[in-house]
Parts: sequence; structure tokens; C-alpha cells
Amino acid sequence: MTFNSQPDLAYPMTMNSVIQHIGGHRWNGVPVLNYKEEGTHFKAISRQILFEGGPKLAAELRYFEIEPGGHSTLERHDHIHSVMVIRGRGQCLVGTTVYDITGNDLISVPTMTWHQFRATTDEPLGFICLVNIERDRPERPDADSAANLQALPVVGDFIRL
Ligand code: MN
Repeated sequence: MTFNSQPDLAYPMTMNSVIQHIGGHRWNGVPVLNYKEEGTHFKAISRQILFEGGPKLAAELRYFEIEPGGHSTLERHDHIHSVMVIRGRGQCLVGTTVYDITGNDLISVPTMTWHQFRATTDEPLGFICLVNIERDRPERPDADSAANLQALPVVGDFIRL
């Protein structure tokens, strides 16, 4: 009996197949990053890249966590988001509607649609977000867009610029 120690080149092993969850929505070796490089249009939010994607799966899966009182940027862009809440509760704006969101809820953010997430209770809001690897730069509301959003009854109170 022979044993071939050479890896089968049809199935290259180039990465760990399993990354262990180490508790508290943290994963072994996955850094907790700043939400964005800079800015004052977001607050108390972190980002972890769970799957970077590649040529065979051109999508990135991220985990965002917003501390109580925090929020993501109010923005819109051509690329879309598919989101699943996995921790806590909060609210999100999609378009001109503010939704209550909680664990296992699914949120679709269509193309060029204003959106913002907030942790509105005393617990963190954590959600995973699926995006295309190639995506355009988010756009923030100009003065006119901001005024239009602020004029809407519920939306006006919700948004943070
Ligand atoms: Mn976005």
C-alpha cells in the first residue's frame, strides 16, 4: 500500500476551512476594524470581515456591531446590501421607512436607497451584511436630500447626519 502525501492539485488547500467563534461575536484571528477610515457621520460601530470572497464567489460577508447610542452612516450607493440581524435590537431606515429590527430579521437595501442603522436600546445591534466585492463609493445626502429626509415625520427624527 502506498501513501501519496502530495496534495491533490484539483483541491488546493490555501486557507483554513473553519474559523472558530470565540464568543461574543468575535472570531479567531478576525480583527475588529474601524467601521470606516474616518468621519463624524457614524458613531460607535465596528466592522469584521468574515468572508473576503474571491473570483469564485464575488461577495464579501461582514459583521457590524453598533453600540447603544451608535449608528451607521446615512448613505446610498449603486451596490446593494443583504443584511441579517444576529444580535440585539434596533431600527433601520430603508428608503423613507423606519423599521424596528431584531434577531434573525432580514433587511434588503436596494440600489440607490438611503439607509441607516441605529442601536436604539441599551444593547448592541449586530448584523451580518453581504455585499458585492466590487462596489461603488457610498454617497451621503447633500443639503437638499438632507432637508427632504428631515421633513418626513418619522424619518426626520430618526436620521443622524
Ligand atoms: Mn451602505
